[in-house]
Amino acid sequence: MKNFGFSFDTTYTTLPKQFFSESEISKVPDPKTVIFNKELADNMGLDFSGCSDLDKANLFSGNQLPLGATPFSQAYAGHQFGYFTMLGDGRAHLWGEHIIPSGTRLDIQFKGSGRTAYSRNGDGKAALGPMLREYIISESLFNLGISTTRSLAVVSTGEPIMREMVLPGAILTRVASSHIRVGTFEFAAAQSDKNVIKSLIEYTINRHYPSLINKDNKELSLIRLVMEKQVDLIVHWMRVGFIHGVMNTDNMTISGETIDYGPCAFMDTYDPNKVFSSIDHGRRYAYDNQPKVAQWNLARLAESILLGIESNIEKVLPVAEGIINEFSVVYKKKWLAMMGSKLGLFFLRKDDEKLIYELLDWMEKNNADFTKTFRDLSNATYPHSKIYDDNQFRQWFDRWQNRLKYNDRALQSAISLMKSVNPNIIPRNHIVDQVLKSADSGDFKPLSDLLIAIKEPYKDRTSISKYENLPKPNEQILHTYCGT
Ligand code: AMP
Ligand code: MG
Repeated sequence: MKNFGFSFDTTYTTLPKQFFSESEISKVPDPKTVIFNKELADNMGLDFSGCSDLDKANLFSGNQLPLGATPFSQAYAGHQFGYFTMLGDGRAHLWGEHIIPSGTRLDIQFKGSGRTAYSRNGDGKAALGPMLREYIISESLFNLGISTTRSLAVVSTGEPIMREMVLPGAILTRVASSHIRVGTFEFAAAQSDKNVIKSLIEYTINRHYPSLINKDNKELSLIRLVMEKQVDLIVHWMRVGFIHGVMNTDNMTISGETIDYGPCAFMDTYDPNKVFSSIDHGRRYAYDNQPKVAQWNLARLAESILLGIESNIEKVLPVAEGIINEFSVVYKKKWLAMMGSKLGLFFLRKDDEKLIYELLDWMEKNNADFTKTFRDLSNATYPHSKIYDDNQFRQWFDRWQNRLKYNDRALQSAISLMKSVNPNIIPRNHIVDQVLKSADSGDFKPLSDLLIAIKEPYKDRTSISKYENLPKPNEQILHTYCGT
């Protein structure tokens, strides 16, 4: 059996047995490699030289797993749209933890690989479109410099999947620094056994936050470090106009990586209340709500972790509350600094917050495209487009130009800063939709073209590519679906 360089050292299964269930991966009839991430494979120390497409298809469909892979699914719970539910990997199998040559430990996981102990009424399968959406968007976030799980391969299975219509089946291979979620802690807390929650706290600290191992009050420090990671993550999402769409507590990692790309999308015109998900009727996961939801989810994490504390709980509780409340303060500070960087400001002065909000207000009122507006401004010259032929914008632009003079660095540095944080290429939702439709009918060329285009999102381009254009009215995609 070929082993392709995989080197497994799986530790998750040393946790109490409630945390996982071992299960076989069912074979698929006709696996075909749709997309394989060679660059990621190389970075992971994997070697597929001399390996045929069929070898890869057999591997990434589970028909032939490498030596040392011991498939299991993880138990977790979650607040879904505010309501607590017991969940678990209903259609995912972990192969185990692969150690890459630098020593980093990575989970390798199948999504769409069949029923598990946690499938409830689901079929355990996934359709090609949603798996390719995860591949495209996760790789895009990675290229944009945003912490995320990654995608190693998508294989079509040759099996039809029954949804509202019959769809081609597929399996995604996901790579993550771990799959420990806020929901994993909620699951542990629901076991009514202090030792279960304590074992998860210890495991998580060893795996993700080893600096805490010998510290006092490490439970509180864990809450703080996860809070800081989540602040950074959400600030990055806001920077590029990313809407996750289903920020349930089971879809929030402890590592700070973006996970579970369901109805996610990037917004085109700036709208703080923007929602894509077809099921988010209450706008719970709207663009501007993302920081508030993250804070709410972290409160659920803190409640769960506190159940693992033995003594002094009356002293610890207010400190934990303080950490969660701090989220808003830390977030606001980092968000302002980020928005400042989008406008080429190296530090913030008194009136900068007003300057930022005035631009956002103008963008909202004028249906300005989020990505394009900031990239247009990144040359620090008056942008040429009909939308900017507007008095209110002109006055704002003059104020901004005056403000730029207070930077302690040359204008060129401000321009470089802006071009490093304001992408010109994002996978726009209408393009993603076209790519997925083509893929469903067997044409993968639009997919590979898009993957090339999103590779260098900050690069200056000599001509406008079709990926920079806004959707025409008839191309707009207003709703996205979970694809479960
Ligand atoms: P998600 O919305 O992808 O985060 O999924 C929420 C929960 O539903 C998770 O526990 C999934 O494992 C489970 N799930 C989603 N789709 C399926 C499916 N087709 N079969 C079984 N479980 C599923
Ligand atoms: Mg999920």
